[in-house]
Amino acid sequence: MNLIQNMPLANTLGLASYAQYGCLLSHSDDVVAARAFAQAEGLPFRVIGAGSNIVPMAQVRGVVGVMAITTRRIIDEGDTGLQLEVGAGHNWHELVLYCVDQGWFGIENLALIPGSVGAAPVQNIGAYGVELAEVIAAVQVLDGRGDLRWLSTEECGFGYRSSRFQQCPEEIITAIRLNLVKAGHIKIDYPDLASYFRDQADLTPKQIAAAVIEIRSAKLPDPSVNPNVGSFFKNPIIDNARIAYFEDLGLSIFRTSVGAKLSAAQLIDRCGWKAKQAGQVRCWVKQPLVLVNHGATEAAHILEFASDVRASVAKAFAIELEIEPSILA
Ligand SMILES: Cc1cc2nc3c(=O)[nH]c(=O)nc-3n(C[C@H](O)[C@H](O)[C@H](O)COP(=O)(O)OP(=O)(O)OC[C@H]3O[C@@H](n4cnc5c(N)ncnc54)[C@H](O)[C@@H]3O)c2cc1C
Repeated sequence: MNLIQNMPLANTLGLASYAQYGCLLSHSDDVVAARAFAQAEGLPFRVIGAGSNIVPMAQVRGVVGVMAITTRRIIDEGDTGLQLEVGAGHNWHELVLYCVDQGWFGIENLALIPGSVGAAPVQNIGAYGVELAEVIAAVQVLDGRGDLRWLSTEECGFGYRSSRFQQCPEEIITAIRLNLVKAGHIKIDYPDLASYFRDQADLTPKQIAAAVIEIRSAKLPDPSVNPNVGSFFKNPIIDNARIAYFEDLGLSIFRTSVGAKLSAAQLIDRCGWKAKQAGQVRCWVKQPLVLVNHGATEAAHILEFASDVRASVAKAFAIELEIEPSILA
């Protein structure tokens, strides 16, 4: 483990950010060593992946480890399915492409989500009708005592864009295990996918991933061209008593297993933010939930814009939008 002072932190918002100390974590021993250094110096210790869901400050205090464990192996395989173990530093989208190439179903709907495998359980990534929680078998963490242990899906406490890891930052994810199947796992009921495939049957995971990639690419800004972190706000969950009120306003309500969800994009749009620019930040015209950075160099500019969006949604609808990315200070 090689500690670098003032290490630049890659992030898809295009912000200039430096960690007081940074290092690559290629093995769980590196995590132990980096954390020990931080503890000895009385500094905070954080781990990130590809920086696609963080808003980093210009100077990040303490030690930031960039996860780089890229192992991948089959743990168990039968006629109908298998369990795959993947290191936390593996690129998520490359993993999806690898799995669909093998003809394995399970994560094809989660194609083109940027970032690392290890960050995926942190906010229980989800898209196009599938959440990671549905396919994950276990998550390996290096806990605060320095022990490596596997947590079951139940122990991970997955919810909508949430998990125990958001409350337990001392638990560093080093690997995950996925349950994948070789046939019969087609999930195309999400409206965009349903209309893409109409009544087509016998789809392969590769065809589904290709459709997801095409639909996403048409809607979402490519961070290498238009820096962003994907959805900046979570879709708010409302209690049943308020459903009728929002339906009367003509807003879409999605009934899910976790409750009634409103579209944050629709609320933001109704407040007139679609494609609106303030300073060097704006809402993406095709998806106002995505804030795009057009040259702001500091996190504060992004957060000011986000705060203005939140304030207008709160004023119009009495809804407090929750920010999705982590702020790294
Ligand atoms: C264009 C775009 C589209 C996106 N679309 C989606 C989408 O459809 N669905 C969705 O759910 N998300 C989406 N995202 C958000 C993002 O891709 C995911 O949250 C992704 O999992 C972040 O991975 P990362 O490696 O970049 O994490 P980072 O940004 O590096 O880290 C995110 C958080 O996870 C923590 N973390 C990272 N690695 C570890 C680890 N090994 N152990 C413990 N904690 C860790 C970090 O401390 C931080 O709090 C999108 C982002 C972009 C830019």
